Amino acid sequence: MEKPGIVITGASGRMGQMLVRTVLASDQARLVGAIERPGNPWIGRDLGEAMGGAPLGITVTDDAVQAIATAQAVIDFTSPAATVAFAELAAQARAVHVIGTTGLEPDDLAKIKAAARHAPIIRAGNMSLGVNLLVGLTRKVAAALGEDWDIEVVEAHHSRKVDAPSGTALMLGEAAAEGRGHSLDDLRTPAREGITGARETGSIGFSAIRGGDIVGEHDVIFATAGERVILRHVATDRAIFARGALRAALWGQDKGPGEYDMADVLGL
Ligand code: NAP
Repeated sequence: MEKPGIVITGASGRMGQMLVRTVLASDQARLVGAIERPGNPWIGRDLGEAMGGAPLGITVTDDAVQAIATAQAVIDFTSPAATVAFAELAAQARAVHVIGTTGLEPDDLAKIKAAARHAPIIRAGNMSLGVNLLVGLTRKVAAALGEDWDIEVVEAHHSRKVDAPSGTALMLGEAAAEGRGHSLDDLRTPAREGITGARETGSIGFSAIRGGDIVGEHDVIFATAGERVILRHVATDRAIFARGALRAALWGQDKGPGEYDMADVLGL
């Protein structure tokens, strides 16, 4: 069987460049296209040269329709508005769409769900094996410990991250809420500032730290009188997300239309 052709969106971005390197290094996939937004300085340039290396024979394009038409999978770590548009194009091309973009609103998710009627969509706020394991552990610990154990999620990311809490923090919060038989919407505490009053029993709080080049750190803190349990994941290299995304793109090749996540891909 021919190796699946992969298109990377947002190819000049931090994750975009990491994805390009990861796909090029793989012997299971071919890089067939690189998309950027109209006006991006990389448009029209050879992708390899734009990345500061040897030519790759792939020209960075803003013509997403044409690029995606040639692909078996689209790996997409961009922005919510761009991702919604790419979901429609990938669905039309019957290509697997792997979505790493975070900060998607309910409206965006509804459009992605509609696109998933035509092709597989694999979406995760975090594509790493370690974090997806942490999600399962969080669900288990939350279920085991009673409501007298307060749950707080603390995350840290680089200074250029635009959304908070992180998609991963929300995944962890959702898992904790599920462990307690609720949805996160019922338990989530709004960001704290000023005179907030005492902590509400059973609620789940979030804190975000932003600074420097932190790749991503997440703590789930379970605190009660006299003791604390802390579950922690530290990412030190963006390559873990890119490897997870490529694995998802390959996994999706023989799947029918529908929405999937990394727990499906990793068989967790
Ligand atoms: P980034 O460096 O800002 O990269 C985003 C890229 O997308 C930029 O190159 C941007 O181009 C491009 N883009 C935006 N709109 C576009 C459009 N309409 N068409 C084509 N390209 C477009 O950000 P990043 O750090 O790589 O992160 C990207 C996303 O991935 C964020 O949502 C982040 O939270 C998420 N993320 C997820 C995971 C995970 O495991 N799920 C891990 C890391 C990051 P311009 O520069 O021209 O705007």
